[in-house]
Amino acid sequence: MHILLVEDETDLRVLAASGLQRRGFVVDAVATLAAAHDCLEVARFDAAIVDRRLPDGEGLTLLPALARRGVPALVATAYGDVEDRIAGLDAGADDYVVKPYDLDEVAARLRALLRRPGQRHSPVLTHGVLRLETGSGQAWLSDEPLDLGRREFALLRLLLEAMPGVVIRDVVQDRLYTLDEAVSPNALEAIVSRLRKRLAPGGFLIENRRGIGWRMVVGSEP
Ligand code: CA
Repeated sequence: MHILLVEDETDLRVLAASGLQRRGFVVDAVATLAAAHDCLEVARFDAAIVDRRLPDGEGLTLLPALARRGVPALVATAYGDVEDRIAGLDAGADDYVVKPYDLDEVAARLRALLRRPGQRHSPVLTHGVLRLETGSGQAWLSDEPLDLGRREFALLRLLLEAMPGVVIRDVVQDRLYTLDEAVSPNALEAIVSRLRKRLAPGGFLIENRRGIGWRMVVGSEP
């Protein structure tokens, strides 16, 4: 799950970004509205966390740009500031979080946002013997837990959601990496190949569409 965090207090931003990464999110963290707009131009995000008082303006002014792209938003408000919260929700935010961030709570609110009716993703995805729980980040093959890294899980989710379609390489890169991370083609291939090994016992194959991306299919009976 790729998150855009817009927060100008450096300590908070760094702490929140690393804490959310540890909880399985891919996080791009920026300090200004301008930088946030730049990020939205070049990557796809699943959700955003937006502070209100930013150096170049009011965080709520970012909400229309997020809404146009179908990116749900959490507005960050100061502790106990009810008016802040109301203004955020009135301006179209989907939910709010209170600063200083309690990262377990923020993570839970992000997961809740992404499983609301009308959102693209359902909490549990299944195909045959493969089962993936988006909330907990756990997957099972024939009821055996799959030991997947964060990026392998994210890739599996993309492939499963796209079945029988192809997942474009750029989309994979956007979902699995922050904008600051340099991604070599080999790094993506390595993730695909690890995931392939894990899924092989269930008869799932990941086909490489050279130059385009990958698709997952169920192989014929052995
Ligand atoms: Ca601020």
